[in-house]
Amino acid sequence: MSFTAQAVNLSAPPALTKHPDVSNLSVGYSGVVSETRVTYSRPMSAQHPSPAGGSFVGGPPDPEHDPTASYALAPSVTAALTRRVLATSGETVEVRSPLDGAPLAHIPQSSDADVEEAFVRARRAQVLWARTSLDERAAMLLRLHDLVLDRQDEIIDLIVWESGKARKHAFDEPLHIALTARYYARTAHRHLDTRRALGVVPGLTRVEVNRIPKGVVGIISPWNYPFTMALCDGLPALLAGNAVVAKPDAQTMLSALLGAELLEQAGFPRDLWQVVAGPGPQVGTAIIGRADYVCFTGSTATGRLVAQGCADRLIGCSLELGGKNPLLVLRDADLEKAAEGAVRAAFSNAGQLCVSMERLFVADQVYDRFVERFVARTEAMTLGSSLDWGNDMGSLISQDQLDTVVAHVEDAVAKGARVVTGGKARPDLGPYFYEPTILEGVTPDMTCFGRETFGPVIALYRFHDEADAVARANAGEYGLNASIYSQDGARARELASQIRCGTVNINEAFGATFGSIDSPMGGMRESGMGRRQGSEGILRYTESQSVATQRLIRFAPMLGMSDEAYAKVMTANLRLMKKLGRA
Ligand code: NAD
Repeated sequence: MSFTAQAVNLSAPPALTKHPDVSNLSVGYSGVVSETRVTYSRPMSAQHPSPAGGSFVGGPPDPEHDPTASYALAPSVTAALTRRVLATSGETVEVRSPLDGAPLAHIPQSSDADVEEAFVRARRAQVLWARTSLDERAAMLLRLHDLVLDRQDEIIDLIVWESGKARKHAFDEPLHIALTARYYARTAHRHLDTRRALGVVPGLTRVEVNRIPKGVVGIISPWNYPFTMALCDGLPALLAGNAVVAKPDAQTMLSALLGAELLEQAGFPRDLWQVVAGPGPQVGTAIIGRADYVCFTGSTATGRLVAQGCADRLIGCSLELGGKNPLLVLRDADLEKAAEGAVRAAFSNAGQLCVSMERLFVADQVYDRFVERFVARTEAMTLGSSLDWGNDMGSLISQDQLDTVVAHVEDAVAKGARVVTGGKARPDLGPYFYEPTILEGVTPDMTCFGRETFGPVIALYRFHDEADAVARANAGEYGLNASIYSQDGARARELASQIRCGTVNINEAFGATFGSIDSPMGGMRESGMGRRQGSEGILRYTESQSVATQRLIRFAPMLGMSDEAYAKVMTANLRLMKKLGRA
């Protein structure tokens, strides 16, 4: 077994160039200016190469304490971003790149008073914002769409530096924001226009339903898709007339701050989108204590706490949580397509994707032929840390994630599981690399049987009849995403309706549902509450308000009628309405 390791620049001899100072160049947020491309960073070979043997004992030099060291990103560039954090505490937290451990920036930390100030500013901005026309707001989303596509190179560079993911997986982030921005801009009136509803007395009761913005929405987001998870849920919130106070994950603040910068450049008022930073239990709780609605994306454990905090305040929340997603390969599946899809399903973003697959159920009849193809494709993957295209998988984000993955695989192996391929950390590629790993023989006593690994590890299971496969796919507490490979579309759709997951992709891993923004996306059971995308993804940020105008008659006896006579008239009226087919 061999994974093509592209330890590219990190293991190449370092070209120790001093980090270029771009403070005098007007190149937006760019850290390095080249003839062909403007990017944030120095070439990855320039500094902090992985030492021989690959381990990062002691880490790379810290520019705060070592004047010969340099940040991976130009400090002038990151300072322009970190200035957007509303923070007066004077405290900062250093973040380092998972690619090579190089320091990226010091992130200012927000106090409780800062969160309070963020809400004051956001509330002020929201009052004016709610008076702007829907068309104006939609036009800003379309400008954001263009900006994100035009500046995708620098967005992707920053995401790669911050998250360690492969470039092709970072591309999914501006792609998802562009899709979301365009969808909501183009459907704004469909969701938000005042609509007529049936009145109690036909012709005499006129009813209109208005959509009123909630006010200030708190958005708490994770690190795994740091640009899109920080932004995508906020776009419909803004369109619906709300302001946002956002708390991105501490490890990936810069990508989220770039999102805030792009919103402003697209025309959204600066104060409409506040960003605060700090530990989840403090800053997240401070947001929940003040918001009018909370949109949370993260683990099920934290989601439970968020739901409790919102329940105390009687505010709404949507919770996009974890999963242990099943992929079913039916006996009539196109096995090449299924194997190709399974690789993306399991190993995109090194498996750190809420909708990625960790359980693979394969029909007995095709098991061996499918597994052969799946393993071959997995072993042909190129792993590495690079800003360039070409790698199929990058790094995990942190030591914590690596520890979880190692623990899940070691536990499974100790209890009798077999590693079909992978199963090893790869410090030669970067501090947190782990091979794409396929397991067989995973049983319920093993941690990775039912618990989300959130890493590049998938377990293979055989099934004989499809009802059994569906029952096993539905086992456990989660219900986020599923995938079915079959050449019989109707049969696959029938099985999909029996699967207790918020999204089911047929002959695709997750992109078909995730990219179809008109359809809701979210989890059943412990995978979440509420939905992003589609109507549900925007209406959650509004209160419905019914306005009924009554003419000619009133809902009380008229013209000297007794209460009894009034009841009789109303009863006759009800019977008539039913006969007429009225709802
Ligand atoms: P996490 O729950 O640890 O953190 C998510 C966010 O919550 C972070 O911003 C964190 O700072 C904040 N937070 C932590 N404690 C908090 C508290 N007590 N109160 C308020 N906020 C708090 O999750 P994670 O490990 O960063 O993210 C990975 C998880 O997210 C996985 O389970 C994954 O499946 C899930 N996820 C789900 C979706 C989805 O759409 N369903 C998308 C991405 C990630």
